[in-house]
Amino acid sequence: MNAKVHELLNQQINKEFYSAYLYLEFSNYFEDAGLDGFANWYMIQAQEERDHAMLFYTYLQNENQKVTLEAIAKPDKVLNSHMDVLKAGLEHEEYVTSLINDIYAAAYEVKDFRTMQFLDWFVKEQGEEETNANDLITKMELFGTDPKSLYMLNQELAGRVYSAPSLVL
Ligand code: MG
Repeated sequence: MNAKVHELLNQQINKEFYSAYLYLEFSNYFEDAGLDGFANWYMIQAQEERDHAMLFYTYLQNENQKVTLEAIAKPDKVLNSHMDVLKAGLEHEEYVTSLINDIYAAAYEVKDFRTMQFLDWFVKEQGEEETNANDLITKMELFGTDPKSLYMLNQELAGRVYSAPSLVL
């Protein structure tokens, strides 16, 4: 495997675990705020990010490439309101999309078609992640200021259930 592609894939393991850690922090924020549905939504998001990390890990293992695990950074977002959390989530997903695109570009440059095929799932996944984050912001703008509506939205988010990623390596 090309050294640059290898380095970026290895870094992405850490970035995905950081994402899990960040969403755990978001879940923690909403648990403290008494919004258990929002806390559930972000807890499942955290589980999905851990799955993403393991997909990158497994891909490198399957390709007989060395995996190097680095320290996971402390979540660095400033969360002063419910909306801050939602917007930090969208901002983070846009950042992750840029990371996936960078790996894709590096793989494309060296004609690493297998890595490109592996990344195809993540390209699509990032589109869904950004849509979900945007939808949540829209719902909060519409319903977040009225306590009864916020209660209903919280109930809706409490219904989210975890499902394993559709990509299996
Ligand atoms: Mg992810």
